[in-house]
Amino acid sequence: MNDNKKLTFENKQLRNVGVQTPGPPAFPNVQKFTPKERSAASEAQSRAAKEANKSKAWMNSRFCAARPEFETVISRKFGMIPGPSERLKTNAKVHVALSACLNGEAVRHNAGHCFAPFIVDDMGEFLSFESVCPEVEGLGLGTPRETIRLVNSSGDLEDWGQTTLVGTKSCNNYTSMMANYTASRLHDLDKAGINGYILKALSPSCGLRGIPVYPSVDTRGRGSGKAQSGMFAKALMELWPELPVEDEGRLADVSLRHSFYTRVEAHRRWRCMLEKRTNARNKKQPYIPLHTFHKNHLLLADSHSATSVKLLEDLVKEASSHRNIDNIVENDILEKEDDIYRRYYNTFFNALKRTGGRASTARCLRYCLSVLEGKDDKKEVAPDNESETAAEGEKRRERDLDNGSMLGMFLEYDDGDEILKETECVDKTEPNINYIAMHDKNKGIETHNSEIPFIQRFCVIDPEDALEISESIKDYYNALVPLSMPLSCFKRQIKRLKLEQKKYLTTGEQLNCDMGNHPGSRALDILDNQAFLEPHQCKRVLSTIRQNKFGQTFEASHVFTCL
Ligand code: SF4
Repeated sequence: MNDNKKLTFENKQLRNVGVQTPGPPAFPNVQKFTPKERSAASEAQSRAAKEANKSKAWMNSRFCAARPEFETVISRKFGMIPGPSERLKTNAKVHVALSACLNGEAVRHNAGHCFAPFIVDDMGEFLSFESVCPEVEGLGLGTPRETIRLVNSSGDLEDWGQTTLVGTKSCNNYTSMMANYTASRLHDLDKAGINGYILKALSPSCGLRGIPVYPSVDTRGRGSGKAQSGMFAKALMELWPELPVEDEGRLADVSLRHSFYTRVEAHRRWRCMLEKRTNARNKKQPYIPLHTFHKNHLLLADSHSATSVKLLEDLVKEASSHRNIDNIVENDILEKEDDIYRRYYNTFFNALKRTGGRASTARCLRYCLSVLEGKDDKKEVAPDNESETAAEGEKRRERDLDNGSMLGMFLEYDDGDEILKETECVDKTEPNINYIAMHDKNKGIETHNSEIPFIQRFCVIDPEDALEISESIKDYYNALVPLSMPLSCFKRQIKRLKLEQKKYLTTGEQLNCDMGNHPGSRALDILDNQAFLEPHQCKRVLSTIRQNKFGQTFEASHVFTCL
């Protein structure tokens, strides 16, 4: 008997006769983690595991093997092609792909269709559609036909690399055919200039999520595997992750539809910007429209994901270093520029995928108000505490909203889209201060470091109007009014400023004297064309859906308060 056992045995005997014995040794001191630290660690762990599984499944999949050129993101060109220019005209409808059966085409396995009037008729006022049916076009199946299902007989039902698309009667394996079709069709769709994709829900090919995987082709019931995406939809999202994609079930939700409209509209503007860039390249001009795009979409990105704004700004700064006209013809510079655009595209559209919360949207609205009031020089204190809880974040944002803390990260641009510098606070108590607002355009970007330009800020809004906007932002933040309320207030102010500016310039011309810039020029420069204030051109977004696919009618008031 070893010493420990002997000691325990003796202690037991002593206790049996009523003698008090020493208890077990104290538990050694270990480092205790707070619940916050524990949850952060477990979240990071599960995120890493998910990422590893995802990439492993993808690398093992037949889609990846069939198209090795997509293995590196550098070679992927989706979304980097301008698209047919007639569709990029300002008032043209936004072109999106749509599952053919939703468009009323009889391509389903039972030779029927699932026409979705709320998409084709209502959303069709703003969107134009390109029908796609992977089963008929890609697999060459006729109508009516056998049904197909996702089968994974490897034992690990979550391993997408082993999931196959199989006919339920013939047991034909359609996976490789679908892989070949998907890659070539996506290229065609990119060339056709699509800006989004509306998929048919619950289909083994087109379904976005919730598609059962079966362990064998003849398994009865609803499938015991973990629900996944349809095979075409999965490949679409893997190969073109930035593309706005929704299914008809999710689009019945008004806030998701609003987000979809916003993303497809942003994608259309992205393609317009690429068109301008291509034209400039052809004429060998050093024009990089990324700056204009960034300036007009900065608040939109910030309202969805504040963390991505810094990345986007870094990319814009990087792009500005390739402005030398002599360098433009050099292929390596073009490739570098392509790479910057691709990274910007990826970061920006992944940021828009995140739902813009009320707090971040209210913060951006508040910034717009501060520009009109000439007070946009206050900096927001960024949270350096990464583990801030949601409740703490909410409190901080509410406090910021009350204190009027602003974004403070807007970069100043001149007419040639060159970044000047982040502007500094202007002391408005000095009435005759001589502001430096002029900038020599002939100088290179690096010469801007020598002087910090001061930009004069004017209050160009009535106190009553400012109060009204401020109240409407608070009401929006407290979910009492929809977003359209503060947005319409801003649009009114911008319209007023434009009229005033026009009158000001006309007066200058009549008097034949240089009156300088109108006081509202700076506010107009920042707020006009700001995608955040007019996220999409669709005027009927609040009233488009009358019925969802189950025949459920939405009350106007319900739709109104959703956004
Ligand atoms: S769900 Fe997709 S594959 Fe199936 S019929 Fe509709 S468009 Fe074709």
